[in-house]
This record gives sequence, structure tokens and C-alpha cells, in this order.
Amino acid sequence: MTTEELLDFDRNHIWHPYTSATNPLEVYPVDSARGCTIKLTDGRELIDGMSSWWSAIHGYNNPEINQAIKDQVDKMSHIMFGGLTHSPAVELAQKLVNITPEGLDNVFFCDSGSVSVEVAMKMALQYCHALGTKDKTEFLTIRNGYHGDTWHAMSVCDPVTGMHSLFNNRLNVQNFVSQPKVRYNDKWDDSDFDEMYQTIKGNADRLAAVILEPIVQGAGGMWFYHPEYLRKLSEICREYNVLLIFDEIATGFGRTGEMFAMNHAGVVPDILCLGKAITGGYMSFAATMCSKNIAGVISSAEPYVFMHGPTFMGNPLACSAACKSIDILVKGNWKERIDNIEKNLKRMLNRARTVKGVSDVRILGAIGVIEMEKPVDMKIIQQKFVDEGIWIRPFGKNVYTMPPYIITDKELEFLIQKMIKVISEI
Ligand SMILES: *Cc1c(COP(=O)(O)O)cnc(C)c1O
Repeated sequence: MTTEELLDFDRNHIWHPYTSATNPLEVYPVDSARGCTIKLTDGRELIDGMSSWWSAIHGYNNPEINQAIKDQVDKMSHIMFGGLTHSPAVELAQKLVNITPEGLDNVFFCDSGSVSVEVAMKMALQYCHALGTKDKTEFLTIRNGYHGDTWHAMSVCDPVTGMHSLFNNRLNVQNFVSQPKVRYNDKWDDSDFDEMYQTIKGNADRLAAVILEPIVQGAGGMWFYHPEYLRKLSEICREYNVLLIFDEIATGFGRTGEMFAMNHAGVVPDILCLGKAITGGYMSFAATMCSKNIAGVISSAEPYVFMHGPTFMGNPLACSAACKSIDILVKGNWKERIDNIEKNLKRMLNRARTVKGVSDVRILGAIGVIEMEKPVDMKIIQQKFVDEGIWIRPFGKNVYTMPPYIITDKELEFLIQKMIKVISEI
């Protein structure tokens, strides 16, 4: 197939994320990817600034993860998890229990981030059901969040950017409070928590759980808020018997400068969602973790089981990739690497503040965000980034990067220099 034929079929038959079927934006055919470089079929090479949406933390084609998957393929690629178990799954669960804070003891493996959010919400509902508090069926979250594209995950995404109006009357009505306003590094102000406090206090008997992304709101706005918000939230949730669910699908595994974003606040949720970087970006996989208490309560009442069990649950290939990815992370100097990326982002990305049309620059760990005054024209800006030799995929007003942790100082400098060049030209 020639590249033209490939692109022609793609345009006429294949959906891409959030795209029109009849008038899709251009897509660029990739030949291969290695380290921090994406190679297009026309031979051009792009420095990757996206880690394939937070996931490829060790870069592409990591020899150790490749080998782990190859070894596993020769044993078994998949085996059903109902009634059977295997060492890749057990080892991965052990690693997850070890690297997460104390209190998250039980692991449910699932197929994608969105599914792990569905599983977390089901856990919360089954927990309330088992306790006999059957009126506790609603969820509370903060605006500008993103939790995935399946039905209930969508119901707790930001109602505006998540297009709730489109599915009017069909999405479950959930409870929303304002996005936390005090920034990660600013001075904490108690009033930032007022609305959340009042809402929990006034609705505790209807609320099963609060769900949010700790510290970093990802796709819903790329916003970093104050750790004190989470400490207050954890106290209040406990006081009013509302469960706390953290969605660390984007932030987990070192991205924010801590192994998990919740570590910035020293707070542990009842239920935790992990995904994206869990396999080092090799394949779709996720996990939902919960406390022994939650697991125990769910299992203590009719139907005495947790009602979920995907076909590809605990897939051995994904587990072996995840085990190796976590090993590389834990045995390596991830914290130094992230600190170094953060330092470089602060030094170089802040220069964008003086560019016309830029309204804010935010940096935390290996995440750098340039917020524009207006949404960018994707058609124009995407082409320019590719022409400059970098892969950056803006969203709305945000032009942002979360590069693989293995990016070199030179590559990062190139990436940021070109990012600033392109936003200066548009
Ligand atoms: C990406 C993401 C999801 C959804 O994960 P998928 O694997 O795309 O289903 C959920 N929550 C957050 C915070 C995410 O960034």
C-alpha cells in the first residue's frame, strides 16, 4: 500500500479521536518510534512532546519492555482470569501495592482508564449498597475534570467541555462544584474549599463518593491546584462518610515529580484509578485499587462478589509490560530526571510569557503548559509543529508538553524552542 492509498482509506473509513468522519483533520502516517523520536513514513523525524498522551514515560521501543513482552508471548499471550491466575498479574499487583501509599491493598485489573473509572464508581455504589445506605447513589466532582469517555466516566467530566448537553437527559446528573482556584505554589486560602465543604455537608446522604484528579487536572484544562484542597477534602469526606476516589490515570508513575500526585498532599483515597503510563505506554491497561475495608464491605453483603469481570482482565502481556515499566521506574533515577525536566521547563518555557496571545504558563514536574487567550487553530498549528520537527498536540487553549522521562536536555531544548517559535508565529 502506498502512503497515499493508506491515507485515502484512513480518511474514508477510520474514526480518529474526536474527529469528523466527513471532514477530518490531517493525520500523519508514522513508520516507527524509538526513544523520544517519532519517524514519519516520509522519513521526517519528530521529537515527541506528548508521550502518546501521558503514557510512553520511558520513550518508545524500550529494549527491556520489548524483551519482557517477547518472553511472555512465548509462554502465553492471554489466559482468562476467571478461575485462573498467573505470575505477571500477581507480581504486578505486588508492585502496585508496594509503590502506592499504605491503605490501598486490593487491585482490580481492567482494560482502559475509562473502564477503571467505571469500576471505581461501581465499587463506591456497591459499598453503599452493602452498608444499606442505598440513597447514596450520586457522585460529586470539580469542574474542568476529565475521567474518560464511557458513560459514567463521562457523567463526571466537566459538563461544558465534556459536552453533557449533547447527551441531554441520558447522562446521570452528578454534582459539580467550582474548580479549585488556589494554584499549586500559591498561598492557601480556606475559602477555596468552601463550596466543596458546603456541598458535601448538605448532600452527604445522597453522595456515594467524590471523584477527582488530584493536584493536576489533565485533559479538562491542564490546571494545577493546591495540595491543601485535598487534605481538607480527605478530612471532610471521612467526617461525612463520603468515599474519596482519586483518578491518577494521567498523573501516576512520576509525572508530577512525585510517584503519585496524591503524595504532594500526603492523602490516601479509598479508591484509586491508574492507567495510561502503567504499561509504559505499550498497551491499553489499567487498574483500580481500593482499601481492604472497601473490598471487605463489598464482599460482606448480597451478592457477596464485585460485579465486574472483563474478558481480557489481567492480560499477561500487559502485566509483564507493566511489571517491567515499574521496575525501570523504581530502579532508575526517575525523581532526578523529572526534577531536571521541571528545572529546564521553568528556565525555557517561561519565556513564552512574553509572546503575544499567551495568557499563562504553568509547570509542574514533567508537565509544561502554555495557555493561550483563545483556542488554537488545530489545522494550522499542527502542521507548523510537524514542519518544525516536533510532536505537540494542543487542546483548546492549551499548548502543552509532557515528554518521555528519557528526553535529553538537548531534545527538550529543541522541543521548547520550537514550541515557542510556533506560538509566536500564529
Ligand atoms: C485518559 C484519562 C482517562 C481515560 O483513560 P482511557 O484509557 O483513555 O479510557 C481517565 N481519567 C484521566 C484523568 C485521564 O487522563
